Amino acid sequence: MEKKQFQAESTRLLEMMIHSIYTQKEIFLRELISNSSDAIDKIYYKSLVDEQLVFDKENYFIKIAVNKDTRTLTLTDTGIGMTQDELENNLGVIAKSGSLAFKKENDAKDGYNIIGQFGVGFYSAFMVADKVTVISKALGSDTGYKWESSGADGYTIEPCHKDLVGTEIILEIKENTEEENYDEFLEEYRLKAIIKKYSDFIRYPIKMDITQHKPKEGSENEYEQVTEEQIVNSMVPIWRKNKSELTTEDYEQFYASKHYGFDKPLGHIHINADGAVVYQAILYIPESMPFDYYSKEYEKGLELYANGVLIMNKCADLLPDYFSFVKGMVDSESLSLNISREMLQHDRQLKLIAKNITSKIKSQLQSLLKTEREKYELFYKSFGRQLKYGMYSDYGTHKETLQDLLMFYSSKEKKLVTLQEYVERMPEDQKYIYYASGESIERIEKLPQTELVSEKGYEILYFTDDVDEFAIKMMMNYKEKEFKSVSSGDLGIEPGEEEKAAEAENENNKDLFDYMASLLEGKVKAVKASKRLKSHPVCLSTEGEVTIEMEKILNAMPN
Ligand code: ADP
Ligand code: MG
Repeated sequence: MEKKQFQAESTRLLEMMIHSIYTQKEIFLRELISNSSDAIDKIYYKSLVDEQLVFDKENYFIKIAVNKDTRTLTLTDTGIGMTQDELENNLGVIAKSGSLAFKKENDAKDGYNIIGQFGVGFYSAFMVADKVTVISKALGSDTGYKWESSGADGYTIEPCHKDLVGTEIILEIKENTEEENYDEFLEEYRLKAIIKKYSDFIRYPIKMDITQHKPKEGSENEYEQVTEEQIVNSMVPIWRKNKSELTTEDYEQFYASKHYGFDKPLGHIHINADGAVVYQAILYIPESMPFDYYSKEYEKGLELYANGVLIMNKCADLLPDYFSFVKGMVDSESLSLNISREMLQHDRQLKLIAKNITSKIKSQLQSLLKTEREKYELFYKSFGRQLKYGMYSDYGTHKETLQDLLMFYSSKEKKLVTLQEYVERMPEDQKYIYYASGESIERIEKLPQTELVSEKGYEILYFTDDVDEFAIKMMMNYKEKEFKSVSSGDLGIEPGEEEKAAEAENENNKDLFDYMASLLEGKVKAVKASKRLKSHPVCLSTEGEVTIEMEKILNAMPN
């Protein structure tokens, strides 16, 4: 039987694609600039194997120009250009990627930064343009060719004159409609902002003629319009630079320029990983809490770049919730993107990166705690609660990561201490890590329940946050030492002579205590004599796992 090829209504397909792949119109510029960058890269890679071809960086650039009168946006590059065949194949065939083919032919391994792979990005130009003209002259060719299309009704190709090797793309920008604004794509400042957002780290200069009002020479209040060619992009991303070249100020500047926060970060982590997954990252531990941090509105996430091109503003999967305060970015060559480059296809690489990042953040925090304790305490004031929530969440599975980052106020030290510090100081006969819950340090200090434990010379951790007790219940123990509330019935302290005497008193006064319990029926389970009290006449204690403080919180929760 004859095998038939699928037919596609290509004009319809194009329409559909243009309007369904991308969520934002502005990315057309990212796509066209990425193509130009690829085209220059191709000359560069050819020059590596062809001695005749000299790659002088000075001569390679991308230029963007607008003309409001003709409503055109022109993008010029000095890249490898396209022959007639290539125009036909790459721009005439949807989903054909000359760049992907180039990578394969040239056995592209590491160091190949070519971005293109899906063969659809170019058509995004039709989201903003009624007509697209491509004038191109390929490297090693004498003539240029002009490709022209208004989208739906196909395209034409004809020979034309072009001096320089490279490609010029002319977009005739659509007229505004009631719903859509297109004029913005003719505004220099807007284009500049889009370039900054997505293409700031394209490795070749992106030039624009920027018109500015400047004071006239020799005059203070007279202004004139001056048009100057500017390089809009930063080109070398700070994260690709060598750590030794960078100062703390550089990192702080990057933090501010990216609007990660208004504060000065407490610390940064610069990662250059080339193990199982290759990526670079710059992460920050902020000092102060964003105003919406503990609200539902707060969105965690890191910026995600693929090969220097911004893919996602806030990639949530890169950060566990308990480190949701971390700001920064990740750039990787080894991500498999979906066709719109707005999402990832597989999250395997992402998971690896996330895991890696998590452990780096943990060590950074641990070293901050060790070497700059004051800074750490500042951090802990803002984000300690998040760490404790993390301990409580997911059934305590993050214990290993978080247990040494927690701090609690100590009855002995009168300041925040870590669990490790507590355990190291424990007297030999002390079996448990004792804690007392209450609204504030002052309230806890007055609790009669703390007296016996303190008298024994044992340290007590004060739990003043709602989440504290829940967190350590999930944690179960620290270095095999279990936690015990000072108000639990059995404190695990060896009964002395006095306790034994209390037992006897309980027997002798059984009738009295039973009568007291009956008066308090429904409020207490039993009334007993105790030697736990030193200066207070009476205190409440609990049996079992749920303490009075936890009960209060549980009762206050909406059901
Ligand atoms: P992709 O970039 O994913 O390959 P595009 O639709 O963006 O897909 O581009 C299709 C192909 O057209 C590219 O792979 C490349 O071969 C060619 N091309 C596009 N723009 C240019 C350009 N400025 N210079 C040279 N070739 C280009
Ligand atoms: Mg492309």
